[in-house]
Amino acid sequence: MSKRDYYEVLGVARNAGDEELKKAYRRCAMKHHPDRNPGDKDAEATFKECKEAYEVLSDGGKRRLYDQHGHAAFEHGMGGGNAGPGFADMGDIFGDIFGNIFGGGGRQQGPRRGADVGFMLELDLEEAVAGIEKEIHIPTLVSCAPCKGSGSEDGKVDTCSTCQGRGQVRMQRGPFMMQAQCPHCGGAGKTVANPCKRCNGNGRVEEEKTLMVKIPAGVDNGDRIRLAGEGEAGPAGAAPGDLYVEVRVRPHDIFERDGDDLHCEVPIRISQAALGDTVRVPTLGGEVELRIPVETQTGKVFRLRDQGVKSVRSRAPGDLYCKVVVETPVNLTAEQRELLHKFEATFVGEGARRHSPKSSTFLDGVKGFWDRMVS
Ligand SMILES: [Zn+2]
Ligand SMILES: [Zn+2]
Repeated sequence: MSKRDYYEVLGVARNAGDEELKKAYRRCAMKHHPDRNPGDKDAEATFKECKEAYEVLSDGGKRRLYDQHGHAAFEHGMGGGNAGPGFADMGDIFGDIFGNIFGGGGRQQGPRRGADVGFMLELDLEEAVAGIEKEIHIPTLVSCAPCKGSGSEDGKVDTCSTCQGRGQVRMQRGPFMMQAQCPHCGGAGKTVANPCKRCNGNGRVEEEKTLMVKIPAGVDNGDRIRLAGEGEAGPAGAAPGDLYVEVRVRPHDIFERDGDDLHCEVPIRISQAALGDTVRVPTLGGEVELRIPVETQTGKVFRLRDQGVKSVRSRAPGDLYCKVVVETPVNLTAEQRELLHKFEATFVGEGARRHSPKSSTFLDGVKGFWDRMVS
């Protein structure tokens, strides 16, 4: 089942403001909250859907990502509310490479840190295999320079009196209690008496960030690289989120990758297949020679050892599999056609069958079939 559009779920326009979103979410909660509909699976599913939509659309950063990329922005659980494992839990294989400046791991309750940001990076197969450094541009929230992210014009910051710095409050909503972002400090846990003029006390401003991302050799579709602390800046000086760069490898003209192995098709002529030949085949490291033995049948696969890919996880490279495809010649000259006519004439009679291994088996099969039918 495809996922419904978040705006559609909440029944609001794409330019709906915060207040409108909140109202729509409350409407949904009143109607579908499991506490009010015990045992009703449909209501529960609808409520979860609304909750997820609201969690994304009510967060400026996530909403921008969603507007840009749709649900794809949160694949693998990011932004999916409480559903799914979330980015933080992925056993990211690249953690060691980029280090983990902020210690990562357990996301504590309390002042909200900056949102994680996902970025899809398209690479050619060659780039993915060899590794590359890429410059990327991400529209995001960065720490406000004049107030150093504190949101305070004079540098003075107070602990929020409503939530005592926790950033969250418990709220009575209709018949149930909910944990909600503190309405006074917006989840930051801090307040400023004299807000910074540049960021209006938010501590962060929208900016397009430019980053160099080092892609290690051997990455494949779906591999993710975490850049700790390169996500959105946290509100009022809170810790930033992480940036996850997900690799998408464009289809290659010649090679298809399957893990560490590469596959390709090598077209050869009938005469080369019958008489044997040596042909040049491409590998990612340049051309190599492939010997076609005498009487090679179409579809025969030859393995070129170690000419595949060395992935980030593997110690040795995979292999390259070349599947030989015998092509029927086209655009024949009169001479070629004449030669083929003569060639064909040699097959007339009983002797023909021993030259055609597949047809022989096929004809024997057909004969056996008829014999069984009449007996
Ligand atoms: Zn507060
Ligand atoms: Zn500021």
